Amino acid sequence: MSRPCPCTSKRTFDACCEPFLLGKRLPNTPEQLMRSRFTAYALRKAEYLVATTAEEKRGELDLDELKRYCASVTCISLKILSTEGGKADDDTGVVTFHASLQINGKRMLHRERSTFRREGGRWFYVDGETN
Ligand SMILES: [Zn+2]
Repeated sequence: MSRPCPCTSKRTFDACCEPFLLGKRLPNTPEQLMRSRFTAYALRKAEYLVATTAEEKRGELDLDELKRYCASVTCISLKILSTEGGKADDDTGVVTFHASLQINGKRMLHRERSTFRREGGRWFYVDGETN
């Protein structure tokens, strides 16, 4: 039996985000990519976060900084509030979510509206608005 997926989907890890993190499958939807990125934060897979960021934004990422951030945060739960687009015919999608995090011992709720884009059959994270 596999353990519960860190993205708190209530599915097992091997039936949810693990195949994406291992590169065995590609996310079909922005929500799946979003979930797998949350799991990557939870499991400190910074390389996956870089690989799933849109190419033009990748230069803004510092892998070491991302690794430090992942190490400082505990990802408690993820709640998808809404999704827009991201269907089979769409090349863009938006996911609004709440991520419950603990940073330096303090609980916080991160709310973000993330934009995703499909290129060459793969979904990438473009950017997000937080408030
Ligand atoms: Zn998952």
